Formats: sequence, C-alpha cells, structure tokens
Amino acid sequence: MNPWTVEKIETLRRLVADGFSASHIAKELGGVSRNAVIGKCTRLGLKLHGADTPTPSQKAPVPKRAIVRTPRMPKSKADPVALAGLQELLDRAPPPVVDALPAPKSLGLTLTELEAGDCRWPEGERADITFCGRNVEQGRSYCPYHVRLSRGKGTESERRAGRELMRAA
Ligand SMILES: [Zn+2]
Repeated sequence: MNPWTVEKIETLRRLVADGFSASHIAKELGGVSRNAVIGKCTRLGLKLHGADTPTPSQKAPVPKRAIVRTPRMPKSKADPVALAGLQELLDRAPPPVVDALPAPKSLGLTLTELEAGDCRWPEGERADITFCGRNVEQGRSYCPYHVRLSRGKGTESERRAGRELMRAA
C-alpha cells in the first residue's frame, strides 16, 4: 500500500522547505518511516536539511530556505571607522545632567542614520546606542535641549533659579 497520499506529499514538500529533518518529518506525517521520507525526497528531488540529510546524489532543486531574521538587531558588525567615530562621540559627550525640562522625544537614530544637522546626543548603552536626531541649535552639535544639558555645569540652586526664570517667562 502506498502511504504517500497527495496531502502527505504536499505536507512533505512544505516541511522539507521549512528545513525540518527527515526524522521530524516522519513523526509529523505519521505512518511513514524516516527512511521512507528520505527515499521519497530523493525521488521527488527534494533536498532535506539537518543532520540526517543524505548526501545529494543528483541535481536537486534547492528549496528556498526561509530567511530567519532576528528583528531589531543592532548593526554591530565591527566597522572600525564607525566604531571609532562612536567612541569619539562617547568620549566627547558629557554625562547627562538631570534637568527639569521635559526631554524632547528622541528620534532614536543610529550612527549611520545621523545626518549633518541632527543632534548627536547619544542615548542607551554602547551595543544599542542611538542618537537624539532632532534639529541642532545653530552652530552646535546638539538640539537646544541637549545644548543645555551639555552646558549644565551650574549648581543645583543655580539651575533651579534658571528654571524659575523660565517658568516666569
Ligand atoms: Zn538632542
């Protein structure tokens, strides 16, 4: 009796394309052995993935391999130039100062997305660092808010006085 119904063959094709091993596919299909799966794949010209892939004997069409992409992975491929630039920015950037002004919403740009005129205030940790990205204050590297932060060298009372002034204005 031929266990290979049309449905089973379709399932087999799908599972092979998804990259499952012959033993997994056999379990999934039920009623067929791992060897039967391998044999059927050879006859259909399907290329099995995984450890128990038989050595390809003839030209078999390579199934499209599903591209598994981890979302939101930072581009951490070591690019010496970019890394040097990043390090420079980190070294130059003063430590953030607590300020009463509400922080503007960061655009969260990556180093490669930054353009001239974008605020280069770094945020986050080194691995997934992003930059403010808002329009800079004229002649500065940062937006008005971050210019203020970078200048924030006064005492707490001085800053408070400044805030009062701003509130009064
Ligand atoms: Zn900024």
